[in-house]
Amino acid sequence: MTFTTRFAPSPTGPLHLGHAFSALRAADLARAANGRFLLRIEDIDQSRARPEWEHQIYDDLAWLGLTWERPVLRQSARLPAYRAALTRLWALGQLYPCTCSRRDIAAAASAPQEGVLPAFGPDGLIYPRTCAHVPNPASPLPNAVLRLNMARALRSLPDPLEFTETGKGPNGETGQITLSHAMLRSDVGDVILARTGLGASYHLAVVVDDAAQAVSLVPRGQDLFTATAIHLVLQKLLGLPTPAYHHHRLIRDEKGKRLAKRDDARAIALYRAEGKTPADIREMVGL
Ligand code: GLU
Repeated sequence: MTFTTRFAPSPTGPLHLGHAFSALRAADLARAANGRFLLRIEDIDQSRARPEWEHQIYDDLAWLGLTWERPVLRQSARLPAYRAALTRLWALGQLYPCTCSRRDIAAAASAPQEGVLPAFGPDGLIYPRTCAHVPNPASPLPNAVLRLNMARALRSLPDPLEFTETGKGPNGETGQITLSHAMLRSDVGDVILARTGLGASYHLAVVVDDAAQAVSLVPRGQDLFTATAIHLVLQKLLGLPTPAYHHHRLIRDEKGKRLAKRDDARAIALYRAEGKTPADIREMVGL
């Protein structure tokens, strides 16, 4: 398999220094290995994605000196592939519909043990499995989200699950990372894989697309390290290969806060307008 990396931005705002770091790191890793570098536009959330941000992404990345293969895969064109994956998981009995509101979840999560803080996972509060006990209807309900039944899914998977980390997680995790079933049940839980109106969640789409594009190394920020546990479970359930992961440090502002899409002050476009060069950007992010 050809060594293949990717950069997968969502066109929901301007690219900032953190994105530049991630894209340059992915392209540098591919070049060093004589491999392929792919760009994927993660625009499944059509309520937030905008064509002008997508154009700005192409423009900023080209200015940084990056080249990538065409055509570019866009998630908005991949809905049938996500639906096929969801249908398969549904048929295997590994999904269930959930109609709980955020408020229901917060109330249920804190109810059983007064004074004990509810646990947070990669997607917020660990779901207290309220709807897991309702028998599944013949087909998914139109007004419900679909959750992974983690406990049931794990029954068919080896314990622990493993993946290779060539970068570092937030606590220095590197090398062969093992994830026990007990941890997956308590610290990840029954995450949402399909939302009403939105179709597939980020977790499902990213797993299906990394496999479809034969990505062998996923470079991305350490903020996504814990989400890798979800991706690993989905790869195993769907019979897809697990790539290696390379989680990298996050670019922070002078107060130590991670840059977000709204940090327009650090948008690549603004540095460009100020006359900075791609070499200046590399220096700013420590490359
Ligand atoms: N689309 C995600 C983002 O912009 C990145 C997903 C990934 O690299 O796995 O944060």
